[in-house]
Amino acid sequence: MTRMPSEIDVAIVGAGAAGLGAARALQGSGLSVIVLEARDRIGGRAHTVMAAPGIPFDMGCGWLHSADRNSFVGISQQLGFAINKARAPWREQSYDSTFPTADRIDFFRAMDAFYDRAETAAENDTDGPAASCLEPGNRWNPMIDAVSTYINGFELDDVSLHDMDAYEDTEVNWRVQAGYGALIAAYGAPCPVSLVTQVRVIDHAGPRIRIETSKGTLNAGRVIVTVPTNLLADETIRFDPPLPAKVDAARGLPLGTNNKVLLALAGADALPGDSGLRGPTVSARVGSFQIRPFGTPTIEGFYGGTFARELEDAGPGALSAQAIDEVVALLGSDFRTRLSPLAESRWAHDPFAQGAYSAARPGHAGARAILAAPVDGRLFFAGEATSANFFSTAHGARDSGERAAREIMATLVTREV
Ligand SMILES: Cc1cc2nc3c(=O)[nH]c(=O)nc-3n(C[C@H](O)[C@H](O)[C@H](O)COP(=O)(O)OP(=O)(O)OC[C@H]3O[C@@H](n4cnc5c(N)ncnc54)[C@H](O)[C@@H]3O)c2cc1C
Repeated sequence: MTRMPSEIDVAIVGAGAAGLGAARALQGSGLSVIVLEARDRIGGRAHTVMAAPGIPFDMGCGWLHSADRNSFVGISQQLGFAINKARAPWREQSYDSTFPTADRIDFFRAMDAFYDRAETAAENDTDGPAASCLEPGNRWNPMIDAVSTYINGFELDDVSLHDMDAYEDTEVNWRVQAGYGALIAAYGAPCPVSLVTQVRVIDHAGPRIRIETSKGTLNAGRVIVTVPTNLLADETIRFDPPLPAKVDAARGLPLGTNNKVLLALAGADALPGDSGLRGPTVSARVGSFQIRPFGTPTIEGFYGGTFARELEDAGPGALSAQAIDEVVALLGSDFRTRLSPLAESRWAHDPFAQGAYSAARPGHAGARAILAAPVDGRLFFAGEATSANFFSTAHGARDSGERAAREIMATLVTREV
């Protein structure tokens, strides 16, 4: 941990993937840099915990999405982190009895047709809710909505059609064996970070930017802000003079709710490793499960949207209890005694995240560019929500930090810091 200096060239607010990406990109630039992080750890929404001996569990990001274009893939190779390239078990199913093949094919046909309609509509229509592209009366609509809660953190009514269309999914998804959070922590390890340093005010009225933190005041030439949108929307960091356009943009890009749960599974050897599990549902209030991720004796559950928020609000343990009930309903009552809670996330109640990842509200797809734009060549903005095409992801966050660092370097061509 680095001590907080009183003067610095570049202060970066937040040591998540974006802030660490910016700090790494500024290494060797000749500029003095400090990352100010409210938590007592780096990584932000990337966080691997040891759920049990030998069982790392990603409470936040777990998948290297769009892995063929994901900057963390090369980084994992450089840092010696093994990558698991097994196909994500989201379309495949282990137990045909829980979701018969014919139904499954029918469901994926309906979901693919929904995304095709959305793509066409995004070219022609105004930026309405993505739900407008559901086929009225289709029996799979609730399940397509459930998938939206996993992908977007919100039901389709609350998701911008244009934003959903802008996301670039190459459908190549890999994982980091030791945990995505562990990889990002190793990537950030060389960065100068002042931990337990909560930024409260960014005063950019004078020639130097005055940053008030829980550890005192710091003056900086440039600042990169990477905190999650819900915190900007709530003005937990006050800008002086105020930046209403940034606050409005952040309000158009709220973080939805997504949470993960890990259950220990006794007698796991009888079950196939790395396989998906779900049943056909007539409701979006349902989890998605993976049996024995990385071959471990566990079941991982993923919840999103309104239901995930309600479960989190119900208190610690509610998510695990729900997951056990759903797995028992799918696999049989003998599983009740074989399952026990190991870990569950609570991102909506995390004071320094207040949610999982950003989705633009209908009509607000343009907010990402507004949030990303620099102010006066001195204030810069990064973070997953500022990524044009890889928002909501860890690599999108990292790349946005690198972009903000490049913007700072470009200002130095004409001005001294
Ligand atoms: C359940 C879940 C599953 C996910 N799954 C995936 C996945 O599979 N693949 C994927 O790519 N992405 C996934 N994500 C998203 C991914 O984790 C995030 O998009 C990414 O980590 C965000 O990085 P960031 O740097 O933009 O923000 P953060 O990681 O949130 O970093 C911002 C930092 O700012 C700090 N901060 C906040 N306020 C202050 C303040 N006032 N002063 C100082 N510091 C402050 C925070 O503590 C935090 O460390 C998932 C997220 C969740 C929650």
